[in-house]
Amino acid sequence: MRFRHIHMLPGIGNSRFPYCTSLYVDDGPGLLIDTGADPSALASIASKVGMVFLTHYHYDHIRSVFSFQGADVHTNPIEAPYFADLDKLAEALGMKHVYGEQGISRWKQMLAEGAPNAPYSTAFCRIWLQLRRLRVSAYPLDEVIHVGNTKVIMLHAPGHTKGHSVAYFPSEGLVYTGDIDLSGFGPWYHGEDGDPDLFAVSAERLCSLDADVYITAHHKGAVSKRRFTKAVRKYLSVIKRRDEKVAASLGAGLTLKQAALAGVSYPPHMCRDPWIFMWEYLLSAKHAARIGIIPEVDKDWPFVFQCPLSTDGGHPSS
Ligand SMILES: [Zn+2]
Repeated sequence: MRFRHIHMLPGIGNSRFPYCTSLYVDDGPGLLIDTGADPSALASIASKVGMVFLTHYHYDHIRSVFSFQGADVHTNPIEAPYFADLDKLAEALGMKHVYGEQGISRWKQMLAEGAPNAPYSTAFCRIWLQLRRLRVSAYPLDEVIHVGNTKVIMLHAPGHTKGHSVAYFPSEGLVYTGDIDLSGFGPWYHGEDGDPDLFAVSAERLCSLDADVYITAHHKGAVSKRRFTKAVRKYLSVIKRRDEKVAASLGAGLTLKQAALAGVSYPPHMCRDPWIFMWEYLLSAKHAARIGIIPEVDKDWPFVFQCPLSTDGGHPSS
């Protein structure tokens, strides 16, 4: 990139989940935006980083945050409280809605036991348990923040999560777009705190910024404004396709649970993972609301949080 003080640090595997691209501003105290990049690249700058900004609380954006013990860590004001309160975090992810308070208790117990048998909690259990040790402040949204001579504005861009923010560098004409990431998968607004309509508004807003370079947190990396704007249209069209898929499933008599298990955005074989199921269930409910269908309530809702998920009425499978 042609920017003197701003450096892009990719994640492993083309910055796919569970990594992301980070941005390092080598000015003033040294600012790192998101800590999901390749850990070896992050280690090489760790001693120079005095400040960390997290765009949102998802694991792939915070995974190496404990490598920056000396830095002041900030995130958006909506999600800063999640770091001290696992219940709030679990609720935002969707656990309370799908698995009830009991599901959250069960998840926390599994974390404490250290061996939850599910891919989305096994790898991450250490960081979830340690988050309360992290002191996280809130950065102001939509205001100029001076980092040495560099100006950055953390723009509130909700939809992916309620507090999701992107970093806009007005003098450089550069935007770090976080998880408005143009992936082939389409927009991710699956959590309890995600919203497809807000996601679309936020993505469109990015296109109207006075900027020439857009850096996505996953996959694409740095792209021109023209390419970003064109790709956003295609990316957002996935929302409509999901409307159609959910309409077809519910129209054929499936319940939300059955629609989720059949897969709306993830392949069906992944949907017995309790996390993926949770997000497909919430996604199905959101799209049902968008298209004006009131689905029947599944008899075993809220479901039992277990790995793998039971498909036969919520009782632990053998
Ligand atoms: Zn995310």
